[in-house]
This record gives sequence, structure tokens and C-alpha cells, in this order.
Amino acid sequence: MHDFISYANKHGIKLLKEGPCQFCGAKVSGGVFECHENVHHLSVILDFTNPKHYESRFLSVDALALQHCELHGPWNNHIHLTRLFLIFENGVAWDYSKTPQLSNVINEYKRNRSESLTPPPAGQRGKTTTQDLLQVVSADDAIAKLREWAKDVFDTFKDHHAHVSSIAKMYMNRYGLQKIIDNNKQN
Ligand SMILES: [Zn+2]
Repeated sequence: MHDFISYANKHGIKLLKEGPCQFCGAKVSGGVFECHENVHHLSVILDFTNPKHYESRFLSVDALALQHCELHGPWNNHIHLTRLFLIFENGVAWDYSKTPQLSNVINEYKRNRSESLTPPPAGQRGKTTTQDLLQVVSADDAIAKLREWAKDVFDTFKDHHAHVSSIAKMYMNRYGLQKIIDNNKQN
């Protein structure tokens, strides 16, 4: 069973199997289940073992999660949004080694804190949806479309950007990445 289905079951969220997606508003006919299938379409086109495609994988995970944030625990919003902040605002080239590092920082951050990032209302988390991913036929198209999708979702969470920027800063300091920001500024 997919994680999102077991999460919904545990939390009493009824997943609609027909019609538009109840979370992101995609005009699909099979609800959130179809959103997940649409994202799966990309795994056929992209090679997630190719370093050029690494970032796309994370962008798709983050965009999907933040558009459907009722289907994960509240702290996951911090992880997905901070990662997008690090990629889009700090120019960090994401790879597999960085995700556990970010989890460490978030775990440290959330100790003694109780807070949640209230998402924009369902259906208002970006105009680009999983349905737009179906137009993609080449790896280059997929990389561009995923970036567009993730940026669109990221922008709808703009009320929380200043907040996650402090977590992003903790991450940058902890892993000595200040130089990347400086380099980007010089360019
Ligand atoms: Zn959806």
C-alpha cells in the first residue's frame, strides 16, 4: 500500500477515487491516485541514477508532497519547503547525500518546538499540476517541467519563505556551504 493511502486511513481522511484531485485541484478523473500515477510517468523518462536528473527527483517529491500536504505529518512541510528554498534561493545542487543532512537539521530544529506551516488552501498550491507532467516526452522536457512545477508550488508558500530561510541558513552553516551562496552572488 502506498504511504499516502495508509496515512489517510490512519488519519480518517477519505480519498476520493473519482473526479479532480481534492488536494491540488488537478483536473484528473481519478483523484489523488491519478496524481501519483502522473508523477510515476516521469520515472520512465528520467534516470534517477544519472546525476543530471537527481535534482528533478527531489523537485518532484517536494512539489507532490506540498500540493498534497494533508497526506503527511506536519513537519514534512518544513523539510520539503526548506529543500526547495535551498535549491531555488540558495542555489544548492541537491543530491542523495544532502537529504539525511537536512533531516538532521530539521530534527534538531524541531526539538522543543511545536509549530506548523499552514499550507495555502487545497486547490491553491500552484497552477501547474501533475497533469501537466503528462505532456512531457523527453528527459530535457521533464527536467524543465519539474522545475516549473516545483517553483510554482514553492511560490504559493511564500508566506513561509522567511521562516524556512532560517532553517536553510542553519543547514548552510552546518555543512559549510556559505561559499556556494557567495559564488552565486558573484555570478
Ligand atoms: Zn493532486
